[in-house]
Amino acid sequence: MDRKSELLSNLTNVQKKVSAAGARASRAEGEITLIAVTKNFPSSDVELLAEIGINDVGENKDQEAKQKSKETKSKLVWHFIGQLQSNKVKSVVSYADYVHSVDRLNLAKEISKQCVAINKEIQVFIQVDLGEDNQNRGGVAPKSLPLLAAEIETLPKVKLVGLMAVAPLNTAPADAFEKLVEIRAGFLQDHPQARLLSIGMSDDFETAIEFGATHLRIGSLLLGVRPDLR
Ligand SMILES: *Cc1c(COP(=O)(O)O)cnc(C)c1O
Repeated sequence: MDRKSELLSNLTNVQKKVSAAGARASRAEGEITLIAVTKNFPSSDVELLAEIGINDVGENKDQEAKQKSKETKSKLVWHFIGQLQSNKVKSVVSYADYVHSVDRLNLAKEISKQCVAINKEIQVFIQVDLGEDNQNRGGVAPKSLPLLAAEIETLPKVKLVGLMAVAPLNTAPADAFEKLVEIRAGFLQDHPQARLLSIGMSDDFETAIEFGATHLRIGSLLLGVRPDLR
């Protein structure tokens, strides 16, 4: 099978599962966006994904993402989903439409500053840490979320659109997502317009849909086993 047929077959398989899980959870058609996480895969794959109907791609490293966004001719929506250092922000906002991993005020301020400089509005998710034992995968502690969200709302050129999380390794995804749903209920009272929810990866997207995911970040199920870059 050539690469395009392989990707199409994987995509069809994922879409069927997304539709079925959506129907089971009574989710509206079109409410769920599939982000193809293309990290470690070449820009030729990004181009093929665009040809078979993918509109949204996710990357977690600036250097790689920037190069791929330059090499890719198709117009796509670029989601930055990885931990982000302030010194990479200027580059990231040059190509990204969404940043999913905002977890501290300094970072949000730098995103705002760099967006003001190029007169571009960016959509941000706040990443919430659902771990108990600080696995250092990023994310704001739930107790610090209200203040961070309130501060982000005051920043120019940054639009707070919702919450993002990664289910911790040692926790059942359903337990982690349930915890997030509770946190989100309080968050939505203060930020009713920030309704997007970026949860769900290859191993837990069906559970994520049950718990209200609007943005799935799917890599290996679409693209195959991720090659090691080093
Ligand atoms: C790599 C990555 C994904 C995709 O993971 P898969 O298990 O390959 O689907 C999703 N979210 C983040 C933050 C990632 O870094």
